[in-house]
Amino acid sequence: MPNMSLKKNEMPSQDPNVRNKNFLEVALGYTEEQALDEAARCLNCKNHPCVGGCPVNVKIPEFIKKITEKDYEGAYQVIHETSSLPAVCGRVCPQETQCEKYCVRGVKGEPVGIGRLERFVADWHNAHVQEAPAKPASNGHKVAVIGSGPSGLTCAGDLAKKGYEVTVFEALHLAGGVLVYGIPEFRLPKSIVSKEVDGLKALGVKIETNMVIGRVVSIDELIEQYGFEAVFIGSGAGLPMFMHIPGENLCGVYSANEFLTRINLMKAYKEDSDTPIMPLAGKTVAVVGGGNVAMDAARCSKRLGAEVYVVYRRGMEELPARHEEVEHAIEEGIIFKTLHNPVEIHGGEDGYVKGMTCIQMELGEPDASGRRRPIEIQGSEFELPVDCVIMALGTSPNPLIKNTTPGLEVNRKGCIVVNEDGLTSHPSVYAGGDAVTGAATVILAMGAGKLGAKSIDEQLSK
Ligand code: FAD
Ligand code: SF4
Ligand code: SF4
Repeated sequence: MPNMSLKKNEMPSQDPNVRNKNFLEVALGYTEEQALDEAARCLNCKNHPCVGGCPVNVKIPEFIKKITEKDYEGAYQVIHETSSLPAVCGRVCPQETQCEKYCVRGVKGEPVGIGRLERFVADWHNAHVQEAPAKPASNGHKVAVIGSGPSGLTCAGDLAKKGYEVTVFEALHLAGGVLVYGIPEFRLPKSIVSKEVDGLKALGVKIETNMVIGRVVSIDELIEQYGFEAVFIGSGAGLPMFMHIPGENLCGVYSANEFLTRINLMKAYKEDSDTPIMPLAGKTVAVVGGGNVAMDAARCSKRLGAEVYVVYRRGMEELPARHEEVEHAIEEGIIFKTLHNPVEIHGGEDGYVKGMTCIQMELGEPDASGRRRPIEIQGSEFELPVDCVIMALGTSPNPLIKNTTPGLEVNRKGCIVVNEDGLTSHPSVYAGGDAVTGAATVILAMGAGKLGAKSIDEQLSK
């Protein structure tokens, strides 16, 4: 008998007033009892609309059925057929706009907690199954992967399983891309990412860190001098945007990417870290923007002891961040100044931020994006006393690879142009993830890495 409760099992989580002072994971995961109760809400629908909502078509009813049979490893294997990073996706996928959006249980009540169940299964596997994957015999073909985010890691893993000799070149000193430098520990523990990276190394994937492709060596050199027969570019979209308002060059103005990298990757808040960050305890921070990145920057600032405003030019309804992240931010004491926009940042004689002039906004008719256009209310300017401003306005691909790879076609946003197989305009060079789509999601990047691996295999095994 299915469980006909209209509500999802709640996710146990740390108390908001405790967690807003630490970097430990907020959501604690289902117990076995909760997972079984939630799995019993799935109706095992014949036409399973949830599967169509998942960008990599995880066989959702099949894995949930395995949970009801207490075959958790079996459930993991079902997910793993199509998703390489279940412990990551179960935590950070925007399920409310993907798989869960199409769940029939969501018509009258809440959808099945697919992401929470995926996380339960992946965590069970990680806690109980220790065996390292066996390294397949080499097929003699060499492939280079640029970038170690979800697209690059997935591409490398799929090719290594087929016997390709894969080398991942990563600009930073640690593999994982946004999973390690952007998404904070309290949403995605870094031990999960390092386990994935260790799994790839066990498959024989070489990871060369501190290697900026386009500076140290170019793509053409990888192919012509180092013997790589194909290249996959998964270099992401890490170039931050700014507002170009007066005062953006003051000390105490960060891009969200820089701020989060200092905190997540470099642990700048620890006394023994080589990388500094301005002390935020007792200070006031304004995070400008309304997406997931803005929520992460705001919640990190709060954990460093600041009073935090999120300044966003549209309303609460229009915030692009996941609902869950907004709810968590509100619970943790972040103050939302929606329908506000900064016009100028002021500094003191010491060159540090002292305040920000904002203007109030109202919403007009929908613009090209379909969202109502924010319009300034003339004469409504006011001062917001802040010590630090973090710009979380979006990112685009870094032009370095394009500028050093003759013939590589990009669109007007700087995103690499690919065909339906992920092939770029450069022969033997494939691309995927944020470098192609612009800032998107982990699961889409992972799907693109899978496509890249499949196409490279088809080309090289001819
Ligand atoms: P990335 O993860 O960006 O990895 C690219 C890698 O390439 C980086 O490690 C970079 O250092 C390296 N690189 C770049 N240039 C070079 C070069 N020239 N040579 C060598 N290496 C290079 N998505 C979700 O689904 N859910 C979320 O909750 C979510 N939260 C996010 C929070 C933040 C703060 C950010 C920034 C993004 C978030 N995203 C989220 C988006 C998601 O993380 C990205 O869409 C995804 O990581 C893209 O994967 P990727 O492999 O294309 O690139
Ligand atoms: Fe849902 Fe993401 Fe899992 Fe797909 S990978 S089923 S979208 S949580
Ligand atoms: Fe289960 Fe919902 Fe998918 Fe139906 S739509 S199979 S109830 S998860």
